[in-house]
Amino acid sequence: MTEPAKTHARPAGLPGPPPAGASALPPGTYDGSTVLVTGGGTGLGKAIAAEFARLGASLVIASRKAEHLKAAQDELAAIGCGRVMTAQCDIRDPERIAEVFDAATAASGLPDVLVNNAAANFPVPAEDMSPNAWRAVVDITLTGTWFMTREFARRHLSAGTPGSVVNIGASYAWTGGPGFAHSAAAKAGVKSLVETLAVEWGPYGIQVNGLVPGLVPHEDMTDDIRGHLDRQREKAGRQPALRVGLPREVGWAATFLASPYARFITGHTLVVDGANWQRRALVSPPVTTVREQLGRGAFGDGAG
Ligand code: NAP
Repeated sequence: MTEPAKTHARPAGLPGPPPAGASALPPGTYDGSTVLVTGGGTGLGKAIAAEFARLGASLVIASRKAEHLKAAQDELAAIGCGRVMTAQCDIRDPERIAEVFDAATAASGLPDVLVNNAAANFPVPAEDMSPNAWRAVVDITLTGTWFMTREFARRHLSAGTPGSVVNIGASYAWTGGPGFAHSAAAKAGVKSLVETLAVEWGPYGIQVNGLVPGLVPHEDMTDDIRGHLDRQREKAGRQPALRVGLPREVGWAATFLASPYARFITGHTLVVDGANWQRRALVSPPVTTVREQLGRGAFGDGAG
């Protein structure tokens, strides 16, 4: 029997995606639709908004800071996405959310798709986390997502129209997230909402799905998150894919989940992370505490 040829080539990881501007969905998939993206002025929210717009959607991008929204509007216009309404909105404020829906509906119709992408996060050892830090992250990431989703659904329920919600999550919703106790708890709540609301609102034609990005660096990352990432040199080599994700790969997944081609998918959370969240080492690495990983001294040294 001949032995199979042995290969000693260095593994190359998962291939890269098609170029920016490409799309798996037919042109015009979102013609006549309005898509509201929270946190659409920066990072992944902006990338998600761009993919919907390339497929014909009118956009509403909503977040707190006018400068984020204006910069994204200009950037989107430069790649040919002209129909972009901006709305300053803190998603913790249900009254302001209702005003944003009113304005969006007046401008381009009740949004057909809601992408709950806005979130807050920073690494901190759990024992150093202040009550305000906990509240801020949970209020934005979980409660804000719920307030947005509630407003979207109530309007569709009273109009008798279908709709689609995509909640951007994180894989520590399943695994827990050492160093991110607030965000991991909030994202677990967001994943639970996907599963609950898909069942409650399926009969009315409202889909609710989750989408979890893996490590997807981008130029708008906050200093806290960038500082955390910068502690890990050679990011690509630490992923089973041997590369990080690209923002457009998250955008493509969002446009699929909300599209007519995914109408029977609901209550599902899709992970787009090159299998990083399922890693287990054959030989366990030594345990390093979160304090050590964040370069903090002993508890009570004043670092918290
Ligand atoms: P980012 O650039 O920090 O985006 C967060 C966005 O949320 C900003 O546009 C911010 O805009 C908005 N925002 C924050 N608080 C808000 C509030 N109270 N009301 C309204 N908007 C608010 O982060 P990102 O990396 O693009 O992350 C986007 C999503 O992907 C998040 O849900 C995150 O958890 C998830 N995710 C990202 C990665 C990654 O590798 N990038 C990995 C896993 C999960 P303003 O400051 O203008 O309000």
